[in-house]
Order: sequence, then C-alpha cells, then structure tokens
Amino acid sequence: MRFKELFGDRGNLINLNKKSIYLFIILIVLFSALTLMLNSFKLLHPLIVVLSVLFSYFVIFLLYILQKHPKDLLNSLDLLLFLILFFSICLSIYMFIPSDPKGINTEHLEVKFNFYVVNNEISKNELLDYVKEANKIWNKYNISIVINNVEFVEINISDEKRTFLYTGISEKNTTEQNEKICKEEYMPIINSITNNNPNMSIIFIEGKGNSGRGNLCGHSFAIFQYEKLSLFGTTVRDLTGWNLAHEIGHIFGLSDLKENYKINLMNDKHKLFYKSDYLSQDQIERIIKDKSKNKVS
Ligand SMILES: [Zn+2]
Repeated sequence: MRFKELFGDRGNLINLNKKSIYLFIILIVLFSALTLMLNSFKLLHPLIVVLSVLFSYFVIFLLYILQKHPKDLLNSLDLLLFLILFFSICLSIYMFIPSDPKGINTEHLEVKFNFYVVNNEISKNELLDYVKEANKIWNKYNISIVINNVEFVEINISDEKRTFLYTGISEKNTTEQNEKICKEEYMPIINSITNNNPNMSIIFIEGKGNSGRGNLCGHSFAIFQYEKLSLFGTTVRDLTGWNLAHEIGHIFGLSDLKENYKINLMNDKHKLFYKSDYLSQDQIERIIKDKSKNKVS
C-alpha cells in the first residue's frame, strides 16, 4: 500500500470537490481554534493531539483495507481532520472526568468566618450572594460556611500594596524569604484589616495578580476579589463565588492541584468551563483531620 494512495497527494488535493474543500477549511479553523483555546487554559495535552492523530490515521487505514473501492477514501483529508477533532474531544472529556467517586463527609461541619470588606468595595448583598454560591459547593460535602460577622473596614492602602497582597508571597521565593516578607510586610497589612485577628477571616480587597489567596503566612485567612468575564460590557461569567469556595479550600488545608487534566475545586485552570465542585475522599479526609487538629469550627 502506497503512502500517497492512502493519504492523498497534491494531485488529489486539486481534484477535491468544492464541498469537501469548504468542509476541510471549516474543520481546520475549528481544530486550530479549539487547540489554541484549550491550550491557553492548559486543558489540552500534546499527548491528546498525538493520540487523536494516530487513532484517526488508524481508522482511515482500517476503512481503506475494509472498503471494496478504496478510491473514495483517497481524498480523505476532511475525514482525517474530522476524526482528529472527534478523538481530541472524546479524549479530552475522558481525561477531565475524575476517575475517583466524589468524596463523602458523614459528619456535618459548620465553619465560622469573620468577613471583612475593604473600603466598601463590595456591597453586603453581593458578599452574601458569593458566600451562598461558595456554600452550594461546600454543602455537597456536608460542610457549611457560616458568617460570624461582616465588618466594613476603611484603610489607606496604595495600589502597589494591593498588588503585593495578591503576589508578594510566592513559590518562587525561598521559605526564609517568604517568612521574612510575611513577618515584616504581609501580616501587618492583614492585621490592620482584621484588627490583629487574621484567623478564620476572609477579606474582600481589590488588587492585581491573582483572583484570591488563601492560608498564607501560617494563618487561616483568605483574600478574594471580583473576577468577572465581560463581553461588550455585560458580565457573561462571574467566577467570584467559585474563587471564594476555592480559597476556603486553602483555609481548610488543601493545596492547589498541579495536574492539568483533573477537574477539581482545587484546580483553578478549568473554572471558566466547569466551575468544578469535585473533591476526592482524600481531600475530604484532609479537611476533617485539619479541623480536628486545629480545633476550629
Ligand atoms: Zn489556589
């Protein structure tokens, strides 16, 4: 079997009819757009693309062998692209779906937080809505986020300091560096907002860098801010409530998940598509252990 016969050559391409050229162009655009979009959100592993291409060639190869009149399959670039697209979507869906069942927590847990709003950046009703959204996720695991108190705090804070709150503590720094930053710069700002009571605190403050941070400097607090995706001035996706739920996960002792291909509350790569509420049994047990260790409820 000759390679040229199987996959078409220049001559075959020129002979393609108009319909298959259009289909081919549409599929190329679709496939490129999908690959670019998924890649920018770190959703598409190169392995998925390679496997999809291999599977597709295999299917075309099988069809070629099984067909009595294989000539019809010679101009099969559009079929090839269609198959690659099909396998990419199937493999992606397969890889996103967690293999373990959702975690179960049999003992109801109520966790109280003090909420702080800096310089009236969010209304009380909005805050309550976001807490409600976070609770929708945590209630699935028999955990309730309870508002102990909401305090509106007026502070004088520069844009640099706001950005510092979202970026200052970093994995790029050494532990010693982070400890020094925590002690000298970070905690003094947090303490000025929470009146030296940072534990079990959640602060709404706007700043650049991240949508939220949680459980920094050895204290159980989180900061969060609006994260809204707007199109032509209209909010199409409000991720603020999901972010709050994610940061609470950090306060509960959970770490960010680095794997790209698992939808999980602690993996914020997929929030735009899924707003995932999945937590594994391991993660639930970690939370319960953490709570009984710290005796906070
Ligand atoms: Zn995180």
